[in-house]
Order: sequence, then C-alpha cells, then structure tokens
Amino acid sequence: MGQPVIGWDRQLTRMISTNSQPASWKFASSTCELPISHHSALTLLSSGDADLPGLLAAARAAKERFKPNVITYSRKVFIPLTNLCRDYCGYCTFRRDPGQRGARTMSPEEVLEVVRCGERMGCTEALFSLGDKPELLFPEMREALRRLGYRSTLDYLEAMCELVMRETTLLPHPNPGLLSSAWLKRLAKWSPSIGLMLETTNRNLMDSGAAHDNAPDKLPAKRLRTVEEAGKLGIPFTTGILIGIGETRQDRVESLLAIRDLDRRYGHIQEVIIQNFRVKPSIRMANWTEPSRTDLLRTVAVARLLMPEMNIQAPPNLSLPYYEELIDAGINDWGGVSPLTPDFINPEAPWPHLQDLERRTESKGQILKQRLPVYPEFVPRVLACPGQLSEKLACASDAEGYAQRAR
Ligand code: SF4
Repeated sequence: MGQPVIGWDRQLTRMISTNSQPASWKFASSTCELPISHHSALTLLSSGDADLPGLLAAARAAKERFKPNVITYSRKVFIPLTNLCRDYCGYCTFRRDPGQRGARTMSPEEVLEVVRCGERMGCTEALFSLGDKPELLFPEMREALRRLGYRSTLDYLEAMCELVMRETTLLPHPNPGLLSSAWLKRLAKWSPSIGLMLETTNRNLMDSGAAHDNAPDKLPAKRLRTVEEAGKLGIPFTTGILIGIGETRQDRVESLLAIRDLDRRYGHIQEVIIQNFRVKPSIRMANWTEPSRTDLLRTVAVARLLMPEMNIQAPPNLSLPYYEELIDAGINDWGGVSPLTPDFINPEAPWPHLQDLERRTESKGQILKQRLPVYPEFVPRVLACPGQLSEKLACASDAEGYAQRAR
C-alpha cells in the first residue's frame, strides 16, 4: 500500500476548505498516491454536502485503480444458529432471552435443510450468525446444548461448520462474537474465513444508556484482540464499523485506522464493512436518528481513501432505495446476498433481488461477480494448507479465485 503524498494530502484538505470544483478532485485522485492522512480523513468526514461530489469522485477513482470495473457479492444462506445472546446491544432486534417470543436454537437437521436448499439455488456461503456465549447467562441454553451433546455454543458451532463442510458444497463463514486464539484455530479448520465487526473503538458506548450498555462482548479492546489473534494465525478476516450508534466522527476515523493498522501488521483483513445503524420500533434505540444518506456515503468514501487497496463493503439492503450510490462512494463489494433466507439481523430490510442488483451494478459500468466467503486474493493462502478445506475450496473456486460459475 502506498504512503501518503503530503502535497496531495494538503491539497485535498485545502480543496475542501476552499470549496473547490469536483473536477480538480478527480484530477488529483487519479494522479496522486493514497492513503490520505488521519487529519484529512477527519476533515473530509466533516465536510458539507457541497463537497460530496468531489469526495465521491476521488473515492471512486481510487476504487477503480484497485479493482477496475468489478463489484463482487457472496451468494449465501444465512444461518441464525441461535438468537439467544448474553449481550443487550441497544440497536439489536436479533437477540432474544430464553422463553421470549421467537427465541430459537436451530437443530443440525434444520441447518442442513437450509444449506441444502441454498445449494440448489447456487449459494456458496453458509453464514453462521449467532448470539455471543448465551450459555454463560442462561441455564436454558446450557440445557439445550447438553441435549444436543455439546458443552458450549462454540462447540456446537464448530460441529455445524464441519457438518456443512463435509455434507454440502457450501463453505462456512462463522460470525460468533469474541474468539480466543484456540477457538479461531478450531473454526478456521472448517471455514476459509471468519468475521467479527469491530463496530467502534469508543468504549464510552458501553456507558449506561449508550448503545453497548450491558453488552460486555462489545468492549473495543477485546474485539481488537480477536482481530489481532486472527492476524497472528493468518486467518482471512472480515471486520468493519457500525455508524450512527453514538460514536463521533473522530471515533469513526480511529476505528478505521485501528483496522488498517492490524492489517498492515498481519495482512489478514479481507474486507472492511461500513454498516449503517437502522432504526426499528422494538429496539432500545428506537428514538435515535439514523445516519443520513450523505453521512453514509461520506464515511464509505473516506474509508476508501484511507484504505485504497482494501475490499470495502456496504450492505445494499440497508441503503435501499439508493444503494447504487455506494458504488460512487468507492465500495467494491455488496457482501452476502441471499436468494433464500432473510437478513435475520435486519428483517425489515429485504435483500434486493439478485437480477436487480446485477442490473443496477451494471448501470454504473461495473460487472457483478460472485465471490466465495473468502476473497479471491486470499484463496491461495487457504489452498496452501493441505486438508479437506483446501480440497473443497479448490473445487469451489475458479482460476481467478471467484466462485465457479458451473456450480
Ligand atoms: S448485536 Fe450481536 S452481540 Fe449485540 S445483542 Fe445482538 S446478537 Fe448480541
């Protein structure tokens, strides 16, 4: 990744402060090296809507230099293995307490049924999303796990990843919350990539009444530790930030830089997700204001300029109806999109139909390509470790590391 060109960095900041024309930004972005500095990122994040076209042009040019004319997505099924969770994030509609309406832990048979259905629909990813360590808080979960034959939720998750690996053509991508080094290693045996959203580096969001009040697993230092341990093990890793949950602009920049620093040390971050908070009537934060469209676009663009050679993703269903503007802001990936299962984390926001996604992606001069849960540039790393996972990945990927079209 190139080092900042100080002259251009100053030029960029000056252009914002003097309200220069977008055309000069476009010129600058195509002729100067990135990434921008911390200071410029903060300035750009605080800039007004009049500056947005120039910022977007710079971000889009950076994306085109990184991955020209391609936007990827992962065709997936969503497996909410359990929605019991010991945390109480203020924005979450997914979690339940035992006995609460909708509380549910899937059986192995249910997992296989969903995955086999996805297999028939050309899916290549089984995304396991679940609450964090519910058995630590709820005896009901301990009893449910005992009946299933497992000591912990992670033991059960590991077994289900292995089941999917052995019995189907889909590749697992677990997203179970905080993980120790030992657990990262165990899950990586059956999964070509693992995910954990950093969300924010601001620990004040754990204060009483804030977004992460009563959510012990959202302590930023612990989440950074998991991301770092994955780096030490060389595991392709997905992470990202959640915007609009009470963080400042400075927090957003610091969160992105924390991710970038870990990637510079270990080279294992395969994508950074920029997710926007959405209001739902049933959540503790029901009266909060969502980030505006321009705030989201500005944040995505700044992420691109801070990390010009990183896969940047924003979920299209959280930005309907204007989601193709995210391409203008420099994303190169839509994330997981399912033709089968709803987004259980944001059930009110259906994924766009894949044909519609393809049409609107192409209207921006991009080709929509299906990737696997591991990005093409990280496929060789997984293939280099002999075993069942690499054999399966070799069958699932094409010569460039994308999903095999014939599947
Ligand atoms: S966002 Fe995740 S950790 Fe927080 S309450 Fe929901 S399921 Fe639990």
